Amino acid sequence: MCGQRRWPRGPACTVTVSDRMRVEVNEPETTDMRQALVETLFAEGNHNYPSCEKSGRCTLQAVAYEVDMLASRFPYQYPARVQDHASDTIWLERDRCIFCQRCVEFIRDRETGKKIFSISGRDADARIEIDAELANKTPPEQVREAVDICPVGTIIEKRVGYDDPIGRRLY
Ligand code: SF4
Repeated sequence: MCGQRRWPRGPACTVTVSDRMRVEVNEPETTDMRQALVETLFAEGNHNYPSCEKSGRCTLQAVAYEVDMLASRFPYQYPARVQDHASDTIWLERDRCIFCQRCVEFIRDRETGKKIFSISGRDADARIEIDAELANKTPPEQVREAVDICPVGTIIEKRVGYDDPIGRRLY
């Protein structure tokens, strides 16, 4: 926002920067909106950090620390989405998914380019899916890439849980 001129409102990443534009990033209103957005993600999923394998290396957890979130102001929805254990190498803790679509876009079968992950359903019925047949052909380094690209603890590698003890993790 700037003096007498009103700048267009909208997602910051779609607004072209121009001379004399004043960019507010840490004003009380924007800070609160940012915190509310993170709180929404927590309210819509089951993010139980003491028991989550991704605790300490979870991007959502790190962002919550960054915005000083203690608890969500929104009612917790406790979604009950069935876990998926069909793949030999990966299991999905679906109720932690925040639908960022990173895995959908970036984790593909190396031979065919086919997507290994997809999202089915809409709104409250949306859930992350895995093509178990393709996932079973995935080399170990790509499985690790899928685990790492997920910002929460939805994509978990089988047989290596808690390999990196809490206390030696990033956050
Ligand atoms: S990367 Fe993780 S949070 Fe994002 S859509 Fe895939 S499973 Fe969900």
